[in-house]
Amino acid sequence: MLAGGIGGARFLLGLRELGHDVTVIGNNGDDITLYGLRVCPDLDTVMYTLGGGSSVERGWGREAESFRVTEELTHYAAAIGADNAADVPTWFGLGDLDLATHLLRTAWLRDGVALSEVTRRLCERWPLGVRLLPATDDPVETHVTLADGRTVHFQEWWVRVHADVPATRIEFTGAATAGPAPGVIEAIVSADVVLLPPSNPVVSVGAILAIPAVAEAVRRTPAPVVGLSPVIGGAPVRGMADACLMAIGVETDAGAVAQHYGRRPTGFLDGWLVDDTDAAAVEPLRKCGIACIARPLLMSDLGATTAMAQAALDLANDLRT
Ligand code: GDP
Ligand code: CA
Repeated sequence: MLAGGIGGARFLLGLRELGHDVTVIGNNGDDITLYGLRVCPDLDTVMYTLGGGSSVERGWGREAESFRVTEELTHYAAAIGADNAADVPTWFGLGDLDLATHLLRTAWLRDGVALSEVTRRLCERWPLGVRLLPATDDPVETHVTLADGRTVHFQEWWVRVHADVPATRIEFTGAATAGPAPGVIEAIVSADVVLLPPSNPVVSVGAILAIPAVAEAVRRTPAPVVGLSPVIGGAPVRGMADACLMAIGVETDAGAVAQHYGRRPTGFLDGWLVDDTDAAAVEPLRKCGIACIARPLLMSDLGATTAMAQAALDLANDLRT
């Protein structure tokens, strides 16, 4: 399964219940260096969520978290004046417990350890029940050009600006020359099924597929590739994926997202699940050669999420036979 942060991680909680052997290929597009620390928000969301250490209420970061370090940084930022304070990114929530992860990751990366090995070591701490691989060991970052002409890191647009300013361009810097992390291609081409969870199609799944070797593996794997729509009734279930889709000229619509992924082998999908609300999208997609079914797609609790995962695997089985 390819995964972003919260949508991917929640779906994995359901998928894990089914007891299969799961490899998660995580998104590195959100990765950012803050205060010299390498932060991998989507990898950490998957790790903390499956490990049982994430904040249920926030969806990201650690439970029982405190923000004393951030408070202290805010005091410094206030004292040094607006110009210098621009270099103090207190808008990004780095909790005290979370910082431990970034300290260790950064220390190991500085010692020359690959991100995939760093991730493996960090995951030793958590009972994940799946194998988590970064999509790449190479540095990649998603950058966004805003309507006012500035180009900023995706996190700055998302977390600081809340995507209030429209984006005119979304660029996956480093992706075109990035290689897949060890194990990524093997996992995709030897899988029984490849799942695209209801993650952000642009900055989560799209950022992973911007790595050419990963895209190529998804196109050529003998396994059926099945995705689930993160858009229900013309809106993202959570977050601002509509702002990302608008930036790349794709309508915020369950059918339009499937068309954007496209049908293999030129595109990425064999099958697609839409919510019951979007049942009207089923026939048009079938006519385009994408096997589409409508099911309840709200991850309201573990039972509902597990049923979604089972429905995706059932569709994959139908495609295989
Ligand atoms: P992020 O990296 O934390 O933004 O998380 P992801 O990219 O993995 O997932 C974000 C997407 O998850 C958003 O576009 C949401 O619409 C979608 N999402 C969140 N909850 C649900 C849900 O219950 N059902 C569906 N179908 N999509 C959801
Ligand atoms: Ca993300």
